[in-house]
Amino acid sequence: MAMKIDMDLCTACGDCEPECPTASISVKKGMYKINAEECTECEGEYDKPQCVKVCPIKGCITQIAA
Ligand code: SF4
Ligand code: SF4
Repeated sequence: MAMKIDMDLCTACGDCEPECPTASISVKKGMYKINAEECTECEGEYDKPQCVKVCPIKGCITQIAA
């Protein structure tokens, strides 16, 4: 399972990127994106997805529906 960033809500503040323990968040042309192949939802590292924890925009980062 993985998380995703809602492009319409993301303000490109950049807070999430350095917090990701698996380096799954990248920025291209000012757009932040989570690599679903690499995102572990922080399992085994943290209790909660760290990107969600630091993102100032509520509902911006959500779980990809299975
Ligand atoms: S849930 Fe964790 S592993 Fe996935 S993108 Fe967010 S910080 Fe990175
Ligand atoms: S912390 Fe949230 S608003 Fe900021 S770049 Fe990441 S997803 Fe976008």
